[in-house]
Amino acid sequence: MKPQLILLGAPGTGKGTQAKRIVDEFGYSHISTGDLLRGEIAKGSDLGKKVKSIIDKGDLVNDQVVLELLNANCSISDSAYIFDGFPRNIEQSELLEEHVLKGAASKAIYFDIDLDILVERISNRRIAPKSGEIYNLLSRPPKVEGKCDISGEDLIHRKDDTAETVRNRLEVFKNTIAPILDYYEGRGVLVRIDASTSAEEVFAKVGEAINS
Ligand code: AMP
Repeated sequence: MKPQLILLGAPGTGKGTQAKRIVDEFGYSHISTGDLLRGEIAKGSDLGKKVKSIIDKGDLVNDQVVLELLNANCSISDSAYIFDGFPRNIEQSELLEEHVLKGAASKAIYFDIDLDILVERISNRRIAPKSGEIYNLLSRPPKVEGKCDISGEDLIHRKDDTAETVRNRLEVFKNTIAPILDYYEGRGVLVRIDASTSAEEVFAKVGEAINS
């Protein structure tokens, strides 16, 4: 059985891009708590209404709320999952182990990068919600401005991808990541990957981590 994968890294480190390739090439299921929360906002559910202003500011939603949403959307006895965006603090690492993984084999992959380059990277990010393609106006622009190369749909600029919110999201990340890394290091399942290299090189390292 393939290990359950926990992707760790600041926003904009390429977790989403890598997750898409891991799904395509290794047959994983991908679960992103950010996507689930944005789905609730798009549906206009009570939960969506409650979390919208928190997400727009770049702050963290309540741990139990996100855990429930996660648990309602994954079943690790059926598939190997990529957990993307969860855990965001040490309490969530413990909740993930206790309520979701329950001792299942897992690997935590940390996408390590100098945080200073991320504000520019994220504020230039554009996303195609249906195809899941992720563009960057500087490094990977779409062929036709504002449209997805694959599906032709309109690209969106996430509301929380604006410079001010990005700075707060990075601040939140900096304040929470160290104990999370210690937690997985202590369990002997942490793999650190230099995320400043090309997506190809990063993916090769991810493959080694999955197979090791
Ligand atoms: P992401 O798409 O992972 O960058 O998440 C976007 C936003 O959703 C974050 O800035 C948080 O406001 C919220 N969020 C996503 N995952 C979590 C989580 N595990 N715990 C708390 N808030 C979360």
